[in-house]
Amino acid sequence: MEQYSNLNNVEKGEWKMQWCRSIALIPVFIAAICVFSTKTIAQNNVNALNGGIENPISDKNRMITRGKGISQELLTEYQEIVNKYLEKDSIGNPDGIDKFYWKSDSLSVEDWTRLYVIYVQMAKNQQSKQMISFYGPMPAIDKASLPPDFDIRIFSPPQRFYDLWIESKKCKIYIDGENVENSVLKSYKPTDFASYFTSSLFRSGGQKDEYRVDLWTESGHKKFTEQFFDQPVSIDKLLEIEPVIMFMVEKDNGKPITIQFLPGPRNDWVLSKVTAISDDGIPMSSMSMPSELMPSTYHPKSKLPLYVSNQSPLDKWKIGKKVVKSSTFELSAGQSAVYDGAINGGSFKNFGFKAHVTHSEGAKAFFWIHSDASLTKGYSILIGKPVDDHRRSGSLASVRNLYKPTSASFDIEVVVQGKRIVVMIDGWKVVDYLEPDAPYRTVANTAQLLSAGELIGFRAENGILNVSNANITPLADSLPNYPEGKAPIDERDDVLIRLQQRNFPVVDYHVHWPVMLGLEAAIEKSLADGYEYGVASNCGIGFQTTSDEQVKALFKNAFILPPLFYAMQGEGREWVKTFSKESREMFNYVFTDALTFNDHKGRRTHLWIDPEVIIDIPEQDYMDMIMERTLKIINEEPIDFLASPTRLANVMMKDYDKYWTDARVAQLIKALKDNNVAMEINSVSKVPSAKIIKAAKAAGVKFTLGTNNNGVRELDRLNYSLRMVEECGLTIDDMWFPKGQ
Ligand SMILES: [Zn+2]
Repeated sequence: MEQYSNLNNVEKGEWKMQWCRSIALIPVFIAAICVFSTKTIAQNNVNALNGGIENPISDKNRMITRGKGISQELLTEYQEIVNKYLEKDSIGNPDGIDKFYWKSDSLSVEDWTRLYVIYVQMAKNQQSKQMISFYGPMPAIDKASLPPDFDIRIFSPPQRFYDLWIESKKCKIYIDGENVENSVLKSYKPTDFASYFTSSLFRSGGQKDEYRVDLWTESGHKKFTEQFFDQPVSIDKLLEIEPVIMFMVEKDNGKPITIQFLPGPRNDWVLSKVTAISDDGIPMSSMSMPSELMPSTYHPKSKLPLYVSNQSPLDKWKIGKKVVKSSTFELSAGQSAVYDGAINGGSFKNFGFKAHVTHSEGAKAFFWIHSDASLTKGYSILIGKPVDDHRRSGSLASVRNLYKPTSASFDIEVVVQGKRIVVMIDGWKVVDYLEPDAPYRTVANTAQLLSAGELIGFRAENGILNVSNANITPLADSLPNYPEGKAPIDERDDVLIRLQQRNFPVVDYHVHWPVMLGLEAAIEKSLADGYEYGVASNCGIGFQTTSDEQVKALFKNAFILPPLFYAMQGEGREWVKTFSKESREMFNYVFTDALTFNDHKGRRTHLWIDPEVIIDIPEQDYMDMIMERTLKIINEEPIDFLASPTRLANVMMKDYDKYWTDARVAQLIKALKDNNVAMEINSVSKVPSAKIIKAAKAAGVKFTLGTNNNGVRELDRLNYSLRMVEECGLTIDDMWFPKGQ
C-alpha cells in the first residue's frame, strides 16, 4: 500500500514487479497526491494574505501567496518561457487528443524557478491549463477529511526505502527541515514520520542521481504546513526543496498525460495518466509507469514519407522466352518474370515498388531486387507460406525472416533508399533493414547485397503466384545511405544475423509493452531490433486483463496491428477459471510461468519478490515444494509454453545447480514432453542453463525465445537466448511455433 503515499516512492524492485507483470496493478497513487494536495491547498488558502509579486526572481525575500490567481501579464510570461522548450502543440486533432511536442526537457535554473514561483501563485483553474506544471512537498493532511478506516501509515516511508537511505551516499536526509546524518535514521522507525518527500538536487548543482529526502514528524509537518502553505512564503523558502516538474505530452478529453523526472532510488522519467476527473475538477485516478521516453522523445519525430509516389506501371515482363506486355501476370512453379521494359532502362537502384500479389496454399515465391537476369544475386522478398521453414510473406529472405502468418492475397511494397530496404504488407511496415558497411553473409548468401542497382523480378519455386498492378516509382540515385538518426546493426559480431542467414526462427514471444507508448512504437522497436515481437498481456486477478470482456476489448482496441503476435500470459493460478476457452483462443498463444503460487503454509508467493520468499523449512524441502507446484502447472494448465522455466528466488539462484538436480531436471523435462509444453529460453532471467537446455533438447522438448522485459530498456535483443541457441546447437526442428504456423 505504500505506493499510495507519494509519487516519489517508486523504487526499482517495486517497479520490476508491477511493471513487468501488469499495468493495472500500478496504483493510483498520483491521484491520491492530487486529491490530497489540491484539496488541502485549496482549504489552506482561504485565509491567505494578498501579497502580490510581479518580479520575484530579483528579490528572494519577497513573499508569495499560493493559489491567489495571477494576472494575464504573468500568464503570458509563463507561456513565453514554456514556449522556449515547446516544439509545437497540435490542439484539436481529428482524434480529439491534444498533443504537445517538446524539443527540450532540461529547463534552465532561471526558467524553472521563475515558472515555479509563478505557478504556485496561480489559481487552481489557471494551473490546470499549463503544459508545464509542478508539485512539491505535500501539506499535512486534515485527518478529519479521511475515511474513518483509512490507514494513515501509508504516508510513512516504506521500510525498504528507509533501509536504503541509512546506507546510501546518494541522499541527504532532512528531519523536520534539519539536515542530519543518514545514520540518525537508526534511532527512528518509519512510522515515526507522518510524511516524506523525495526531491532532486541536480537542478541546483548536485549530481543527477543525488537526492534529498525530507521526513516530517507529525508535529514537524504541521509546523511546516503552517509556514509553507498557510501563509505567504518567501521565494528562498519555496525553492529550498526542488519541485517535480511535469511536462504535458497529451491531453485526451481534458485528461492529461504527463512525464516527469523522479529523483530517489528510481532516478528516472515516469509517465502518468489521469484516467478520470471528478465533477469538481479533481483528478481522481491516474496510472504511472517508468517511461523509456523523456518529454522530448515521447512523440517520435515526424518521419518523412518513404517516397512521394509517382507510379509508372511495370508492363513488360520476360517470362522464360516469352514477353508479357502487362502489369498483371501469373507464374507457376519454376517460372520467373524479369522486368524488361523501358522505365529507368530496366535497372533500379532506389525505388518504391508496389503490386498486389496472391499465392496458392503452400506456395514459395520471391520478389528479387538489385538482381540479375537469372535472379541469383541481390535480395529476395518471400511471398507465400512454404511448409519447410515456417517463414512467411514479407520476409527479406535470410536477413529479416518473418513468422507471423499473413493472408494469401495482399498489397506488397518494397522500398530501397540508399542502404535501407523497407518491406510493407497491406501498408504495414514489416521489414526495415539497414545494410551495414560490413554485412555478415554465409558462403551460400554472398551475393545477397545491394549494388549499383540492377534488375527486378519474381520467381515461383512452388505453387502459383499471381501478380497484378505492378508499378514502380524510381528515386534519385544519390539518396543518403541511412535515414537521419538511424544506424545499422553492426553484423560483424551479431548473433541474430548468423541465425537468420541459416533461417533459424528468431521471435521474441515474451515482450511486455507499455500500453501508453502505443503498439506502433513496439513495431518500430522490433523493426530496429531485427525480429518480430509477441506482445503479452498479463491476464489474471489484479492484473491488466481480468475478464473475458476485457479480452474482447483488448482485441477491439489495441491488439489489432498485424505485424505483432499477441499472447495471453496467465497469472496467479486461478486464471484458468477466470478466462474462457474462447478468450484464450483469441490470442496467438498462451503461456504462464511457475513463479506465483501459495507456498507450503498457504502464503501467496511471487518468487521474484524477495520478501515473499520465506524459506522456513529445509532448503531442499522448499525446492521440493516449488517442484511440486511447477509440475502441477505443466500438467494442468492449458499453455503452449512455460515462461522463465527453472527460475528460482533470487536468494536461491546462486545455488541453481544444487537445486536443479538431475532427478528434478528429468521430472521437469518429462512433464513438459508429456504435456506438449514448450520451454522458454529467457533472456532476462538467463534460464534455463545450457545443461538443462541440452537435456531437454535430447528429450525432444521444443523451445521458445523470450525476454519478459521490465521496461523497454530491458529488451536486449534476446542476448542470452540467442547465445544459448548457438551454444546448445538448437535447430529449427527444436523450435516451437504458434498455431497457424
Ligand atoms: Zn511476462
